[in-house]
Amino acid sequence: MIEEQLVGRGITDQGVLEAMRTVPRHLFVEDAMQAHAYGDFPLPIGSGQTISQPYIVALMTLALHLTGKDRILEIGTGSGYHAAILSRLCQKVYTVERIDGLVSRARKVFDKLRYYNIVSRIDDGTVGWPSEAPFDAIVVTAGGPRIPEPLLDQLADPGRLVMPVGGQLVQDLQLVEKREGILTLSTLEQVRFVDLIGAHGWPN
Ligand code: SAH
Repeated sequence: MIEEQLVGRGITDQGVLEAMRTVPRHLFVEDAMQAHAYGDFPLPIGSGQTISQPYIVALMTLALHLTGKDRILEIGTGSGYHAAILSRLCQKVYTVERIDGLVSRARKVFDKLRYYNIVSRIDDGTVGWPSEAPFDAIVVTAGGPRIPEPLLDQLADPGRLVMPVGGQLVQDLQLVEKREGILTLSTLEQVRFVDLIGAHGWPN
C-alpha cells in the first residue's frame, strides 16, 4: 500500500507515510473485507457508507499541512480510519458522525489501539462543533453541494479545510486556506464520495 499506492503516486511526506504505515487499516473494515483492507480502492463499512481509498486519505491529510500541534475537526467518522490517521499527526481530533452504529464501532477500535486523542460525537456535522471551535484544520469526508458556512466560521486563522464539493456523483476535492481573514480556494483532484447529509449538505 505504502510503496505502490502512495510513494508511487508522489506522496513523500514522511509523517503522513509513517502514520499510514502505523495504523492497522484492517481493524477498521468489516470482518468479511479484511483481506482487501490494503487494496487500492474504497470499501463498504456498513450502513451504505464507505472507507476511502488509502491514496485519497493520504492526499487529504497532506493538504492539511499538519504541524503536530493542531486541533482537527473531521466530519464523517465512518469507520474511524481517517480519524485514526489524523490522530497520529496532531494534538487532538474532534470527529462527528450522523450514524450511531458507525460511531460506536469506531470508538471500540480507537480504544483497542489506545488512540486517546480522538473525541467523537453523533450529530449533523454540517453545523460543526461550535463549543470546541476554532479548529486549525477541518476535513469533511462526505461530498456536499457547497462548503457549509458554519465550518468556514469555525476554521482558525490561519487554517485549512478540505472537502469534496460538487454533485452527488462526482466532486472536486477542494482546499480552502484561511489567512489574515482571506479565503483562498483550490481544487486538488476529482473524487467520488458518499453524500454529506444535513442542514448545510444534501437533504435526507
Ligand atoms: N472518514 C471515514 C469515511 C466515511 S464515509 C473513514 O475513514 O472511514 C462518510 C461518512 O460521513 C459516512 O459515515 C456518513 O454517515 C457521514 N456523514 C454524512 N453526512 C454527515 C453529517 N452531516 N454529519 C456527520 N457525518 C455525516
